Amino acid sequence: MFNFEKNLISFITNYSLNKIIHKMATEKKITRVESTNKGDTSTNTNQTWAPTAENKGKATQLRVIAVVAWLLAIAAQLFAIWHILHTTPIKMWLVIVLIVVDLAFAIVGSVLWKKSNRLDPASEKNKLMFFLQSQLGLFTAIIAFLPLVIVIFTSKNLDGKQKGILGGIAVVGLLVAGFMGIDFNPPSIEQYTQESKHVEELMGKDYVYWTKSGKKYHLYKDCQHLKGDRTTEIFEGGSVADAYANNSKIKPNAESLCKTCENRAVKEKGNSSEPIEDTTDKIKDVAEGIVNK
Ligand SMILES: [Zn+2]
Repeated sequence: MFNFEKNLISFITNYSLNKIIHKMATEKKITRVESTNKGDTSTNTNQTWAPTAENKGKATQLRVIAVVAWLLAIAAQLFAIWHILHTTPIKMWLVIVLIVVDLAFAIVGSVLWKKSNRLDPASEKNKLMFFLQSQLGLFTAIIAFLPLVIVIFTSKNLDGKQKGILGGIAVVGLLVAGFMGIDFNPPSIEQYTQESKHVEELMGKDYVYWTKSGKKYHLYKDCQHLKGDRTTEIFEGGSVADAYANNSKIKPNAESLCKTCENRAVKEKGNSSEPIEDTTDKIKDVAEGIVNK
């Protein structure tokens, strides 16, 4: 327990420090993120991507906190079930408060769990394990709400109206927690490997740029899309994996590499064997510009 508290405190301290640093910076500048890929400048392209010990440690911390949050969610549910089964008259407000607490902890757990997977993703080689690890938040949401929903609808201590109100709230809790638990873009070791290699092939090393609010990562820091961002916005540099770990808006798939940068890199490399649809990308860029405004 002592160790866990220490970890929790260091996690919170790190988190606050990061926030303060970001607030203090007012000029547009690059924040160098420590690379998660020690094979940064290596030319060995057969290597499978792996997280650094530091990021693996961070992921473990997040997972421990996520599991504790989920246990607290389940505890709130058990308390609500116990109250419904063993108390008359049932305090409606207490059950509602417990459902809200259950939901809050379920969501906190899921958010941290998904973040941990971005730092230390699962491998797709074992499909079942990949599915379980990526979507654990969904299963936890079911465990943290379904028993309560069943108890509410089958309880003899509740009348029809009470069942309607409490059951409705619990079902909404189940749906919201379930939705928040799903990772719609689960990261994988294979995806990280493939994209790091692609960037390395284009640029010589796995180093990219991104902004906090952007949904893409870039190969050039003077990319027009980075310039277009608010001038006060900090942009960061690091490996592709760093981009995914530090910006949850960037989806872990091949579409997240800025096409303008990719085209430019291909041109600068003088590689005409990989023609990329210039026109489509230009249209996309213009469309994105309009949407962003
Ligand atoms: Zn770009």
